[in-house]
Amino acid sequence: MTPPDSTRSSREGFLGQLYAGRFRWDLLAWPAPDPVERAAGDAIVAELGAFLREAVDPLEVERTGELPAGLLSAYRERGYLKLSLPAALGGRGLSCYNTFRALVAAQSWCMPAGYVLAIHTGFGCGALLPALPEGTLRAHVTKRLMEGAISGWADTEPTGAANRLASTVAEPIEGGRAYLLRGSKVFIGNGSIADLLNVSATVREGEREEVRVFVVDTDSPGFSVRQVHQLMGFRGLPIAALELDGVRVGRERMISGDEHHWRASPLLEPLSSLGRMYTIAGASLAIAKRCLRWSVDFAGRRRINGRPLNEYDEIRHMISATAADVLAIESIVQLGLDGVETADGLTRRWFEQIAAKNLCSRACWRVVDRTMSLLAAEGYETAGSKASRGAPPEPLEATMREARGLRIAGGVDFQFDNRAALTGLMSFHTEPSPPLPEPEPVTDPRLGEAGARHLTETARQTTALARACRALAPREALAEQEHTLILLSQIGGELFLRASVLARAAAQPDTAPLADVACAASGVRLAALWAELEAEPAPVALSAGQLGELLADLG
Ligand SMILES: Cc1cc2nc3c(=O)[nH]c(=O)nc-3n(C[C@H](O)[C@H](O)[C@H](O)COP(=O)(O)OP(=O)(O)OC[C@H]3O[C@@H](n4cnc5c(N)ncnc54)[C@H](O)[C@@H]3O)c2cc1C
Repeated sequence: MTPPDSTRSSREGFLGQLYAGRFRWDLLAWPAPDPVERAAGDAIVAELGAFLREAVDPLEVERTGELPAGLLSAYRERGYLKLSLPAALGGRGLSCYNTFRALVAAQSWCMPAGYVLAIHTGFGCGALLPALPEGTLRAHVTKRLMEGAISGWADTEPTGAANRLASTVAEPIEGGRAYLLRGSKVFIGNGSIADLLNVSATVREGEREEVRVFVVDTDSPGFSVRQVHQLMGFRGLPIAALELDGVRVGRERMISGDEHHWRASPLLEPLSSLGRMYTIAGASLAIAKRCLRWSVDFAGRRRINGRPLNEYDEIRHMISATAADVLAIESIVQLGLDGVETADGLTRRWFEQIAAKNLCSRACWRVVDRTMSLLAAEGYETAGSKASRGAPPEPLEATMREARGLRIAGGVDFQFDNRAALTGLMSFHTEPSPPLPEPEPVTDPRLGEAGARHLTETARQTTALARACRALAPREALAEQEHTLILLSQIGGELFLRASVLARAAAQPDTAPLADVACAASGVRLAALWAELEAEPAPVALSAGQLGELLADLG
């Protein structure tokens, strides 16, 4: 892939345009159905699903905290570590959307077993191939992948992932021909099983301090696994704390660029956003769909006062809301993955993929929380306990623990909104803002009355959002207005969610009733966001000094 100017391209995408005040309905044309593509996706979903049902007992994984011993070898032998790689590299050559579908199928059966594949596919060294020019590094990565290497991305550190500089350092040696990596990494998915890892580290050369990514073979001297973490959820996931104690890497293993940080390089951040689609959005969809199935099943079999639960008004309201959240996740993903096989296509969808991380994981959380209320005590009980008394052993309790992790993995939700606003939304503050475009009426004859109303309202709020963005303080002061930025980012996300379900309803009219439910629920969330944004005076936050006093008072 030839690196595009990612910021410019992404501004030309739907969300980039939305922040500029243009509601570009034309950019959300629903992907045309392709029967060949669909059949390829159905085939891998069926194959991978059947394999996992045979090879993995999810309740046993939850009980023991271990994946089955031969699972990794089977993944390797069956080509599941090369889902998206081209056939020339021995891969399955799946499109991004079919890769996503395959990963959702795996995560639906057993989250940690599927998440291993999702991390490898989305964040492993193979995921970076589009950013690697022909040369030694690309040849090495290709060779290792063809041998069946499994990998991941080691970024987070005990000092905190949000720090601008990595505390892991890459010290130049041998006259700059190589580096010694020193530092600690934590919470690294696939960390304890990886053959190859993308490792971020700060390079200090002269006055310059830059954060680069290095491709590290985990059998290198100085590399070790310190601990496999025990998380709140994802039991069985090989997520580890790692030590790099003078690991030598040749200069050619550095993924270069002139930028101060790997995130600023043209393709790496969009590629990692694609990785979040496979991991976070994929897991969110897998979980939300399971919850929908469990909700419908429970409401059908439970009778209260002789009346089936699914005849009660509030229960139908709740299950409709869950189905609408599932529709929203699916629609956001399908548009977010449309046309991303080229570098230009990927960067055009970059802001949409960034927004998808929080939209999907929060929708998933709403669904899980609602499902827990619906299933009541049977939801709160562990699957093992239910199995032993003969109740349907749906693992809702474990699923809730997993779902919460999705709002942290890949970036804590609120801080992710803040960063998204600074990168995407605020890119308009780098230059004199162009005049706000005159709002144009947006109509689509394929939408019914409710859909048309939601479309008009979404376009109206787009203009309001652009106006609010322009009213912000000068760029230098923006970073200090985190709460405002977070609210604006969430408003932009909600507008994208509404537009996504409406785009689908326009192409697939049978989804229109659920799109209506999704837009109505989003409208309620938007009203709260605008109310908070416009509240005068702004809700007070305690100062750092007052927080200190509070702590002292608490004793
Ligand atoms: C299931 C799971 C899988 C994961 N897989 C991986 C993986 O494969 N590779 C990997 O590298 N990491 C992985 N992580 C780690 C994850 O990406 C980080 O936990 C996440 O990015 C947050 O970083 P942190 O925990 O270091 O928090 P920190 O960065 O230390 O942040 C601590 C708190 O400060 C807040 N904060 C930070 N900056 C600001 C700011 N400017 N303003 C206001 N608040 C701020 C944060 O939001 C957070 O609440 C995984 C985590 C989980 C739960």
